[in-house]
Amino acid sequence: MRIFVALNLPKKERTRIHRASARLREEVLPVRWIDPENYHVTLKFLGDVRQEHVLEVQEIVRRVAESTLPFDLTLGGFGAFPTVRRPRVVWLGVDASAELRCLKQDLEWGLADVGFEPETRAFHPHLTLGRADSRGGAGQFRGFDDVMAELDFSGRAAIHTLDLMRSHLSREGSRYSVLASARLTGR
Ligand code: ATP
Ligand code: MG
Repeated sequence: MRIFVALNLPKKERTRIHRASARLREEVLPVRWIDPENYHVTLKFLGDVRQEHVLEVQEIVRRVAESTLPFDLTLGGFGAFPTVRRPRVVWLGVDASAELRCLKQDLEWGLADVGFEPETRAFHPHLTLGRADSRGGAGQFRGFDDVMAELDFSGRAAIHTLDLMRSHLSREGSRYSVLASARLTGR
């Protein structure tokens, strides 16, 4: 099954983000906007993993969570990967705090122990708001950077669990479910 490790935000914060980003969705653009129920911050995408290995991953997630204290995510700033002119992913920024970077590193090390390739790319924590198809050319997104810059949002979300998620791909877009939620208890 297709799995990933993520941080989920309280509903209240997801609703705030959805409202704060409404202006982006008013633009007529080839972007598939994510439902607020599906907002999350991915820490590690594992892809298709066989059932027996899922349990191993679940165990690593639990162990990492056990050695991590609850912390706050700081959210703010809108942007896009790879560029705002030719976006694939439109996002809300997440502050790469020391806690978040430690958690990411612990996860990478733990998962490397059971055979998952550590990420070599830089960690740019973000919350995906939409997926864009910019094949029609950068022209369609002219002015989008200004729309983004005009938005003003800052948020904070208390994180108490590390979640192993399952992704169900479908024509209507991906749906996610929580396979296992591990409490951050610290140590
Ligand atoms: P869709 O693929 O239908 O556009 P999605 O990307 O949300 O939807 P998944 O592809 O299952 O669904 O991805 C689940 C999560 O993992 C998402 O947060 C996604 O951004 C992230 N992700 C997917 N592929 C990768 C990858 N190669 N590297 C890093 N993160 C990834
Ligand atoms: Mg994807």
